[in-house]
Amino acid sequence: MLWNRPRVLVLLGLIVALGWWQWHPQPGEVRRTRLLMGTTVEVVVLGTATDQAEAAIEAAFAEMTRLERLLGSGYAESDPAKLSRSQTEMVVAEETAQILELGLQVARESRGAFDLGLGRLNALWGLDGPDPRVPKPDQIKAALVGLGPEALDVDGVRVRRRQEVAIDLGAIAKGYIVDRGVQVLRDHGVTQAALNAGGDMFLLGHHRDRPWHIGIKHPRKTTEVLATLSLQNRAVVTSGDYERFFEEGGERYHHLFDPKTGYPARACQSVTVVAPSTALADALATAVFVLGVEQGFELIGRFPETAALIVASDGSQHGSPGLEQYRAGP
Ligand code: AMP
Ligand code: MG
Repeated sequence: MLWNRPRVLVLLGLIVALGWWQWHPQPGEVRRTRLLMGTTVEVVVLGTATDQAEAAIEAAFAEMTRLERLLGSGYAESDPAKLSRSQTEMVVAEETAQILELGLQVARESRGAFDLGLGRLNALWGLDGPDPRVPKPDQIKAALVGLGPEALDVDGVRVRRRQEVAIDLGAIAKGYIVDRGVQVLRDHGVTQAALNAGGDMFLLGHHRDRPWHIGIKHPRKTTEVLATLSLQNRAVVTSGDYERFFEEGGERYHHLFDPKTGYPARACQSVTVVAPSTALADALATAVFVLGVEQGFELIGRFPETAALIVASDGSQHGSPGLEQYRAGP
């Protein structure tokens, strides 16, 4: 008989060994996940003693948890929530001021395609909750009143806003929090790591003997990789119309809004941005998504060391000139 007992046992042993090899962390690699910012945050640390790596990751998670409470719209005592309730000028945390400054810079450079004041529009569409809906045109029009980079005035940590506008940091805060997590890892002596918050990612140093290789998901073919990027000390962030959406009357309504119309932006299916910081990559990915290929690449060109990969709404793929240096395939 072919499948005699010793052969089956050897085969079983082999399968178990292969399984162990596959799932057991590689030597010198510490991998931890935590639910944060409404997503699974994964940290991988290499080249560091296990105890030190574990302490570093724990400290990074603690800092990210603190910042989520400070910056998330869902927390009543967060800075954006307090800012949106404030009647006059308000003093915000240093971190909030930094995000607002960067967000306003992207808002200005994108000529308003990126906007930190979409809190009311967001609430109207309800894409963060269980009951998303297409609002009435006059409701949308009302939610756009007062928008634009001038709606916020940031002077150090003093912030003033136009009363009509509600602050929403959803397009930039996650990236900023990833950067702060990476800084904590660095402060603990970590030199090689990947920190991934549901697609907002920073790659620190090398992965063993070469840069990290990161596969970018195709926005429509879920099992297909659009491109593989080779990254070292770089952030990579994707904004896509497949992340949060609902369909009505054959139309897809997603969470990336054109502040000029109040409706979901129609130019792209997905935008991936590479940048020196995750906060910048996060903000630019959202802004380029709204702008589309031509104006989007113009925006990318104004920020040094950034690159973008766009899947336009017709499915065509476009890489900015700076992208080629990062391409590892396909
Ligand atoms: P992201 O996934 O980083 O592209 O951010 C999406 C989130 O940013 C949305 O859920 C909204 O809270 C917010 N948002 C949507 N459209 C814009 C926009 N044009 N400018 C700034 N924030 C936006
Ligand atoms: Mg973003």
